[in-house]
Amino acid sequence: MMAERKRISILGVTGSIGRNTVSVMESLGVERFETVAVTGNGNIAGLAGAARALGAQVAVTADPSRLADLRAALAGSGIEAAAGGDALTEAASRPADWVMSAIVGAAGLAPTLAAARTGATIALANKECLVAAGSVFLAEIARSGARLLPVDSEHNAIFQCIAAERDCPIERLILTASGGPFRNHTRAQMAAVTVAEAVAHPNWSMGARISIDSASMFNKALEMIEASHLFEVTPDQIEVIVHPQSIIHSMVGFRDGSILAHLGPPDMRVAIGHALTWPERAALPVDRLDFARLGRLDFQEPDEERFPSLALARRAMADGGVAGCVLNGAHEVALDAFIAGQIGFLDMAGLVAQTMDRLDDLPVAHDLEDVFAADAAARRVGRELVGRFAA
Ligand code: NAD
Ligand code: MG
Repeated sequence: MMAERKRISILGVTGSIGRNTVSVMESLGVERFETVAVTGNGNIAGLAGAARALGAQVAVTADPSRLADLRAALAGSGIEAAAGGDALTEAASRPADWVMSAIVGAAGLAPTLAAARTGATIALANKECLVAAGSVFLAEIARSGARLLPVDSEHNAIFQCIAAERDCPIERLILTASGGPFRNHTRAQMAAVTVAEAVAHPNWSMGARISIDSASMFNKALEMIEASHLFEVTPDQIEVIVHPQSIIHSMVGFRDGSILAHLGPPDMRVAIGHALTWPERAALPVDRLDFARLGRLDFQEPDEERFPSLALARRAMADGGVAGCVLNGAHEVALDAFIAGQIGFLDMAGLVAQTMDRLDDLPVAHDLEDVFAADAAARRVGRELVGRFAA
């Protein structure tokens, strides 16, 4: 008799993490899983394709104007089609054992919380849930008894490093960063980079936004805040080291001087597969590391003059309260403005810093409404500030 199938939902199935999740499920055998919900946004063909490949119960596009297109794309499949924010949340709250949270940005917050409230295991790629809603999100997780498995490669690496060290206090977390395409640029060169240059990541193939965030190290800034919520450490225990080869995905230091590191190919299927099959490990068709060919691993101190995002993360962690939410909301506005050609690459950090200055007295968030209010305030102030930086 066939073993009980794991019920899976994938929020953001059409994105880079979502497609990699489908790919891992296919390499393990889709018949091992019962797919409940898959969600996407504008890419209807991709959404319908994933829904068909996995035999999902329901496919949801966040864009209500695309419902007819989705229905047409799913015609004859027997798969339910739905659209809009409420449908997204409803689909996310359908009973499942494991939910991949891979919507990009703060848009992932409400559906991920809805999934968490069911008690499902949450495989968390969407770092914004922790950066923007940290304690509120974790309180919901604790209340529902849901398990949180980090998929962001650095946090997944740390999770793996501490798996056998449950009772040993952590001395330091060392997040590795590739340094992105502008690792060796001067500040003047960085001021003039284009969107196309910022999207081209040297090691990882990822969504456009996170690729630009790697180039500005805003991704690492978000990950520092993410780590401060996920693991029992204070902000001063979180370090960042530039490691251009992206082979070490992060490290944990203990009080006896030992450092445990997680190494692997720069391929998100490793972290996704780990979260999908945890606490077991399944065979994955990813590259194997060949150390003789690698020859060396390099490290360098991140330059906070050229990458001011890191200092902003330290400031948000020190400020506490909704500072992470303000940083995140302002950063999303700044990123959109950079992509739209309205502000320069280095202006993104300036815009976030000024938004944080203007909103340093917001009250602590007690629930999701408070989080959304802080997020909205950050976006409003951020948008007002775009004009000041306009080239
Ligand atoms: P992506 O841009 O490739 O995909 C984003 C997904 O979100 C798509 O399915 C899209 O349809 C959906 N989406 C976009 N806007 C939406 C909205 N308003 N409402 C509902 N759905 C919406 O992004 P990605 O690179 O796959 O990243 C997803 C998340 O995972 C991000 O939070 C990112 O920081 C995190 N992450 C990604 C990687 C990576 O390698 N790509 C690594 C670590 C963490
Ligand atoms: Mg990461």
